[in-house]
Amino acid sequence: MDDRLEKIVRERTGGEPVCLFAYDLDRLAEHVRAVVDSLPPRCRMFYAMKANSADPLLRALAPLVDGFEVASGGELDKARAVDAEIPVLFGGPAKTPAEIDRALRCGVTRLHAESALELHRISEAATRLGTTAEVLLRVNLAGPFPSATLAMAGRPTQFGISEQDLPAAVARARALPGLRLTGFHLHSLSNNLSAEAHLELLAHYGRTVARWEAEFGMRCEVVNVGGGIGVNYADLDAQFDWPRVVRELPAVLDEFPEQVREIDFECGRYLVAGCGAYAVEVLDVKHNHGVDYALVRGGTHQFRLPSSWQHSHPFDVLEVDEWNSSAPRPELRDALLTVVGELCTPKDVLASEVRVPRVRAGDVLVFGHAGAYGWEISHHDFLSHPHPEHVFHTDAG
Ligand SMILES: *Cc1c(COP(=O)(O)O)cnc(C)c1O
Repeated sequence: MDDRLEKIVRERTGGEPVCLFAYDLDRLAEHVRAVVDSLPPRCRMFYAMKANSADPLLRALAPLVDGFEVASGGELDKARAVDAEIPVLFGGPAKTPAEIDRALRCGVTRLHAESALELHRISEAATRLGTTAEVLLRVNLAGPFPSATLAMAGRPTQFGISEQDLPAAVARARALPGLRLTGFHLHSLSNNLSAEAHLELLAHYGRTVARWEAEFGMRCEVVNVGGGIGVNYADLDAQFDWPRVVRELPAVLDEFPEQVREIDFECGRYLVAGCGAYAVEVLDVKHNHGVDYALVRGGTHQFRLPSSWQHSHPFDVLEVDEWNSSAPRPELRDALLTVVGELCTPKDVLASEVRVPRVRAGDVLVFGHAGAYGWEISHHDFLSHPHPEHVFHTDAG
């Protein structure tokens, strides 16, 4: 745990139980700048806002990335509140006609269309506004995929147009008056940890787009390769090998047709997970039917990530020596600890059977890599507990 984070947590002990998200905006900027600067020509990095759309994070990211990817009218509003000019890509599987209309009025750079009806809705809105919308077709690829890739596309999902239906969708897009089809959107992975798999998948995308060009007699200008670069929550020392990806990316990009002028990445998790931590005070510890439990002020209603991914989230124990109670202070030693929250449901589990030398009521557990899909995806008001504090820190003040 870094010193600044520890200081933030320690400053809050001794009063109401600690419960907070802390975001290190300097660390965020350093990481994102390094990722963006490492990209070869033709590549752009957009931030997929659904991972975390907190205003201070967006403000820190706006000058560093090529733009934001939004998937709702609400996200579009947040993007525009931060920067009226920043390029915005508008996606999402079920857009309302009103959202499409607003997106066009707000001057989004491109829309990602997910169905034939959406193509019509976009064309209608654009025609009404006297403009032409730039559109990528989102495709759910048929496979087969290269051996090393995780087959997360090529199966039924609600996303995009099934590859079998692509010829008809392309013909339709080209016939509609209000839009210009400039390429394809191929996001088909989530939390991928293998650089090799990622490179193979990108090469596969390139070859697929080249094949479609021949098949449909079209020139593709833009390909969106999505996000899906992962964070290894199970082994923090074995993170995604981004340096390898950028080393080998130029060769992989040769698979894409030459005139593709732009290859868009739209990453969420990989950009912001590392800058956030969730710190919660241990309210009680107990040994129940042979299992060691720490019960914390907080839980999955604030940090649903471990329950949504069915993983045990890594944490550190911050020892707090102060104990302001006449009650004996309970502790567990050499515990095989399961960390649970304050909700009245056995599903409120943040970590399972983790060996810790000691944990006491009044200590604070700090869950790292909590900056993406943490607070954002959680059911905050279940059981009406108070919300955590959100601390955004930077040396700039
Ligand atoms: C969620 C999502 C992303 C971002 O995914 P990460 O795994 O966070 O990188 C990008 N594009 C689309 C279409 C998405 O739905």
